[in-house]
Amino acid sequence: MTDMKTDTDVVIAGAGPTGLMLACELRLAGVDVVVADRLAARTGESRAGGMHARTMEVLDQRGVLDRFLAAGTPRPIGHFSGLWLDFDQLETRHPWSLMLLQSHIERLLEEWATELGVRVRWSSEVTGIRQHDSDVEVEVGGPVGLRSTLRARYLVGCDGGRSAVRKLAGIGFPGTPATVTALLGDVELADPPAESLFMQRRTGGDFSVFAFEPGWYRVVTTEHDRVADPREPVTFEELRESLLRIAGTDFGMHSPRWVSRFGDAARQAERYREGRVLLAGDAAHIHFPAGGQGLNMGVQDAVNLGWKLASVVHGRAPEILLDSYHAERYPVAERVLHNTRAQAALTRPGPQTDALRDVLRSLLEYDDVNRHLGGMITALDLRYPMSDDHPLTGRRVPDVELKTGDGRRRVFELLRAARPVLLDLRGDTALAATAEGWADRVDLVEARSAADHWPVWPVDEIPAPAALLIRPDGHIAWTAHAGATPDPAALRTALTAWLGPATAD
Ligand SMILES: Cc1cc2nc3c(=O)[nH]c(=O)nc-3n(C[C@H](O)[C@H](O)[C@H](O)COP(=O)(O)OP(=O)(O)OC[C@H]3O[C@@H](n4cnc5c(N)ncnc54)[C@H](O)[C@@H]3O)c2cc1C
Repeated sequence: MTDMKTDTDVVIAGAGPTGLMLACELRLAGVDVVVADRLAARTGESRAGGMHARTMEVLDQRGVLDRFLAAGTPRPIGHFSGLWLDFDQLETRHPWSLMLLQSHIERLLEEWATELGVRVRWSSEVTGIRQHDSDVEVEVGGPVGLRSTLRARYLVGCDGGRSAVRKLAGIGFPGTPATVTALLGDVELADPPAESLFMQRRTGGDFSVFAFEPGWYRVVTTEHDRVADPREPVTFEELRESLLRIAGTDFGMHSPRWVSRFGDAARQAERYREGRVLLAGDAAHIHFPAGGQGLNMGVQDAVNLGWKLASVVHGRAPEILLDSYHAERYPVAERVLHNTRAQAALTRPGPQTDALRDVLRSLLEYDDVNRHLGGMITALDLRYPMSDDHPLTGRRVPDVELKTGDGRRRVFELLRAARPVLLDLRGDTALAATAEGWADRVDLVEARSAADHWPVWPVDEIPAPAALLIRPDGHIAWTAHAGATPDPAALRTALTAWLGPATAD
């Protein structure tokens, strides 16, 4: 779709998990992308240590989840500020956390992106942008000879918490400043603890020691009211002193591979779009990494944005569709910032917080409380606001089994191509006639539900619906009630809202 005047359809700044996932989504939809990253190459460093169920589901929708499952270790638990959550009651095929270092997640995403024809341009820092009516110029720095200006239809800043794109677009980043200093080191231990230690609370703060992979340990300390200057480089000695202060031992740590510092500053971009510039992932939101939500949210931002941006680039949907990206994803991050502020407060040392934690721990014995927090941390409970009020509409489609002319298939398997799906579960010829004007944009699938009832978050079941319009991100845009004749006018409204006007209109 690149026209004569642009070098590419979309420039993505940043080849972290968000930028890579977005590149894959855009390529699946036939959009040309250039991914520019300021690093000379991947560092192999890992902040995140895993992914949650909804991220596994979106990878499953695209048919690449098995690669991640093969590389990671599933554990049927998560946590809220170090208080264990039982995930095995979550309504999903993947009721666990997948322990997998961010470096492996990035490697696997990059391999998939390469298969789809994406090439990451390393040593390519985005340093300037100029927006015009029909395109955006992106200045990309780098070694002499590699500096250039790329002209694209859109630029997406997936360039992390200190996003240059966000600053260059003049988008504010309000929020709350850090109140804690957390230090992280991947180190060797001469005298390791007998088993992993997670968020051990002491008078001065808390510490964790995990054995992620053979040969090295991840040590994390959190101290309150000692906010470090983020411009000061972090040192191995600083980590050792912090661990000694909190734990009274350094476990004989030596040979650091990586040390880093983070905090609980919680900030969010005031808007996710400024003309032809959009933000996703940490560029749009930062927060305390409690519960392990940031990488997951970035990947899911990308899955929400990718198909919308592709439709607009292809000229099929009006630009206003892009505003639904902010409308749907801003509140998601707002809620994560809120829950991570609560989790940071729950890490404060002292008898009052100890008591609060005990009360919360006792509440977690109730299945409903456990499921409520599990749904929030994994984002399985998300429901985007939509006009139709069927209990499934706006939610992620359940991955139920279908009987099709080609045998049994799961609903997620229909989403491999990242195209919208109109699922007809009653053999209603009127549906195909209604959707005729969108035949180039939606896959009409006729099937029968293998089960009479479908799950609806959190625990309810409803009779299998008569028909569904499923967006490429797996969220349901329109549902026809079981036993009812689908309303063609409501379907036309949903098709127009999400896919643009019908071809003949
Ligand atoms: C200690 C810790 C533990 C965490 N654990 C978890 C966890 O278990 N689960 C979870 O979901 N999240 C976790 N997170 C959060 C997670 O690491 C981030 O949310 C995630 O990395 C965000 O991905 P991203 O692609 O948006 O940004 P980043 O990973 O920051 O990637 C941004 C990329 O942009 C590049 N870049 C920067 N500036 C420019 C520029 N001007 N031009 C071009 N490229 C640029 C960078 O080099 C980088 O490659 C954790 C974070 C921390 C600190």
